Amino acid sequence: MQIVKLGTETLREKSRPIQEVTEEIKALAAEMLSTMYREEGVGLAAPQIGKNIRMFVVDDGSGPRVFINPQITGMSRELVEMEEGCLSIPGVYEKVVRPAEVRIQSQNENGRREITEATGFLARIIQHEYDHLEGVLFIDKIGETKKERIEKKFQKKKEKESSRNKKNSPA
Ligand code: ZN
Repeated sequence: MQIVKLGTETLREKSRPIQEVTEEIKALAAEMLSTMYREEGVGLAAPQIGKNIRMFVVDDGSGPRVFINPQITGMSRELVEMEEGCLSIPGVYEKVVRPAEVRIQSQNENGRREITEATGFLARIIQHEYDHLEGVLFIDKIGETKKERIEKKFQKKKEKESSRNKKNSPA
């Protein structure tokens, strides 16, 4: 399972709900978790593996969790600043301000409905991953100048890679 990088369209599209939590969805969640652990991430959303469906996986250190069709139903008024990174934007870390606590309704990998009240690091990861389902990235929250600089850097990287691929292609 490959993680797509900044500049890929699925990262900017709004994801659609999952109609039914099937065995396939469960298997996909397991594969996303192993990909997340392999890349040493703390969260991974379906758009990051090229699928625009409403699912993400997280592990804040307290064990793996799967969120399907999540809905944020409450946020604290208190805001906190924390440094964030993203497996789709490797090497970039920036401080982002977000609510300190969130309440989220979702289904787990067995289709069971759950309500999670998250604080601290887990609240942070959940908000970051939820944004992915809306086509929003953390660099959208750090100011236009910085964002444009990062986007340009990744655009150049992509161009370099595609010209390298062409060179290796048979004529
Ligand atoms: Zn991310």
